[in-house]
Parts: sequence; C-alpha cells; structure tokens
Amino acid sequence: MALIVQKFGGSSVKDRDRIFNVARIVANTHNAGNDVVVVVSAQGDTTDDLIAKAAEITHNPSAREMDMLLAAGEEISIALLAMALNELGCHATSLTGWQAGFRTDRAYTKARITKLETERISSELERNRVVVVAGFQGLNKLDDITTLGRGGSDTSAVAIAAALHADRCQIFTDVEGVYTADPRKVRNTRKLDEITFDEMLELASLGAQVLNNRSVELAKKYNVELEVLSSLNPVPGTVVKEVVKDVEGMLIKGVAKDTDVAVITILNVPDEPGTSFKIFGLLAQKNINVDIILQSTGRDGKKDISFTCAESEAETALRVLRESAKFDQVICDETCAKVSIVGAGMQSHSGVASKMFEALSNSNINIKMISTSEIKISCIIDREDADKAVSAIHDMLFE
Ligand code: ADP
Ligand code: ASP
Ligand code: MG
Repeated sequence: MALIVQKFGGSSVKDRDRIFNVARIVANTHNAGNDVVVVVSAQGDTTDDLIAKAAEITHNPSAREMDMLLAAGEEISIALLAMALNELGCHATSLTGWQAGFRTDRAYTKARITKLETERISSELERNRVVVVAGFQGLNKLDDITTLGRGGSDTSAVAIAAALHADRCQIFTDVEGVYTADPRKVRNTRKLDEITFDEMLELASLGAQVLNNRSVELAKKYNVELEVLSSLNPVPGTVVKEVVKDVEGMLIKGVAKDTDVAVITILNVPDEPGTSFKIFGLLAQKNINVDIILQSTGRDGKKDISFTCAESEAETALRVLRESAKFDQVICDETCAKVSIVGAGMQSHSGVASKMFEALSNSNINIKMISTSEIKISCIIDREDADKAVSAIHDMLFE
C-alpha cells in the first residue's frame, strides 16, 4: 500500500462531469489499496471571477479581505469533490487549508508555508478516508486566512507529499505533461518524459505556468518526485526529479515567455561607488523582486541603470526611486516581455545563444536586454512580439 498525493487544477474540476471524472480517478487509486490525499483548486475561472467581483467594489481592496474572498473558491471544490466521492461509495472528508494544518507567514496574497501540522490528515487516513484538501490556502499567526499566490495549489500538494513522505505526488492538469513550450500556443511541441528540478524551476519561474515555481522549489528541497499528467487522458506524463537520463541531443528542454515584465531605467545617475547599492537597497526594502540589471558605460561621471521587475511592482518601484531616492529621470517601459530558453545541456555546448538570436533576427525582433545563467538565456523584447518569438525560437531549436 502506498500513500499518494493527487492534485487537480481548476480546469480538471470545472463542472459536474469533470468533478465525477476526478472522483473516479481518486476512487480507483483508493480502491487499489492506496491511501490518497487529494488537493484541489477552485473550479475553472472561479479565482479570476472572484478577483473581478472585488474590483466591482474597490480598486484598492485590503489584501486580508482578498484572501478571505479567494479562499472561498477552493472551499467549493473540496466539498463538491468529497460529495462526488461519497456518491461513488468512496468515503471522503474535505478539509480547508487551515483544517489540514497549513500554517503560513503573514504575507497576505503571497504567503509562504511555515509549517504543516499533519495530525488531522493522518487521523482521517487512519480511518481509511480519502482526504480532500483545499489548495492555495493556510492560516497565519493572527488566525487569518492567507493564500499562497496564483497557482499555489501545486505548492500545497508538494508540501503535503513532503510532510507525509508520500510515495508519489501527481499533478493532474489539462495537458499531458510538461512540453518543450506551451502546447496550446506553439506548434510541434514535444512532451518531455523527464526533466530535472533545476530545469523545471527555471521554466516555471520564466513563465511556463504548468507548475508553480515555488512548488518545484519545495519538491527539490524535500526531494519529492513529481509527475505532471492529464486528468482527461490516462497516458504517462512528465516526471520531475533531481537527475534524469541524458537524452542524446536534447540540449534545450523548453522555451517560455513571461509577459508580466516592466523595464525601468534611471538616466544620468552618478558613476561612483554606492549608486547601485542605493538603488537596489531601497527596492529590496520594499520587497521588489528585481530580475535583469543592465548598466551603461560611464561618461562624464554619469551612467544609466536599467532593470526589470514584475509589472505589478513597477508602480511601487517608480515611487521609491522618485520619492525616496530622489532620482528625477526615471522611465518605465510596460510594453515588454521576456522570452527564455532553458536546458542544462547548454552548459557544455556552444552556439545555443546564437541560434536563439538568429531566430529572433530572422523574425525581425529587436532584443532590448539579454541575461544568461548556466542553464538559461533570456531576452527582453516587445510584448507584441512575444508569441511570434517563442514560436520562432522553438522552430529553430526543435525542428
Ligand atoms: P491547472 O489549472 O491544472 O493548475 P494551469 O493552467 O495552471 O493548470 O497549467 C496548465 C497550462 O500550462 C496548460 O494548459 C498550458 O497551456 C500551460 N503551459 C505553459 N507552458 C507549458 C509547458 N511548457 N508545458 C505544458 N503546459 C504549459
Ligand atoms: N485557484 C488559485 C489560482 O487560480 C490557485 C491554483 O489554482 O493553484 O491561482
Ligand atoms: Mg496551475
């Protein structure tokens, strides 16, 4: 007998038929003699719909109230799935995030899990019940409901698998696994049999939303092997793990895009020690996550510094730079996107970057910034070119 954690995303539970489809998968796993903990997301577009409802009331909702609102989405799913399981004769108990023992820090809307108290889940399993847990939510020290950020149910599932030392953690979704690019947007994508935690973490962080990046971080930390697979088509998916078989010729594992990017440039700052510290120290104090940084060569004692951050954080960054740092020439470009390629194979092979640049050049796409690490290359380009760029790069590297 094994302990299996199965997570189902929003599209997998979007209506009655999909809920029964999930219930059958879970019941079959349980009937085969396994203990099963299920984690579910809100149905279909429920989370987006709840955000839209809040916007009807105010443009500046309190983060605490947003979490109270958004947590409701997952609570509907757990109750309906538990009812469906019981209809199939499979005894199930639904638990909210806090009932399941998720404790988080105080950061409403982007909370981090600090502890998982597993007593309640374990006692339900001992009673031979399937446990259906609401993903994406927990409770902070003030006994307030918090949520883990978009896509956070993946993280809930991995956390449960890690804490209970589960034998398997399956992430069911609406595609058959992790592909070389988003299979809904790019033609001729290939499904990967396996991918390493490091590569998947890069892909997820660079915009491939098939897995939430924190969930991959957590899976790597606790060595929880993940399987990404379809809830609609029972074929083998993609396994995410520490070490994978070296597939001949597969230098690159995927192409991703992120359109939530703003480029901020501060013109004519002093070309002297301490300037970067002043800028990025202030941004760090405001918890702004800076990504690519580019600095021009100094001339006449002045230089320009550009950096990228999430578009949602650009307004705060601009305020900090103009008001706290007193820079008067700060500009923000919110028409950018980041396209990236990821693959551990590029560490030992040359020429990968030039292929990427060739694809962009052939499509007449201008590169505004470039950033590289051992296993990824990212280019900042015009947002309107993002889909064309991903397809061109994918064609160049995979055909
Ligand atoms: P869920 O609701 O199950 O959590 P998500 O919508 O969060 O599902 O993630 C699945 C989606 O991720 C797919 O429908 C697909 O369009 C998108 N996606 C983006 N990049 C990739 C990729 N490289 N491989 C697979 N799917 C991807
Ligand atoms: N329902 C949440 C979202 O839409 C969490 C999740 O689906 O993982 O982001
Ligand atoms: Mg998701």
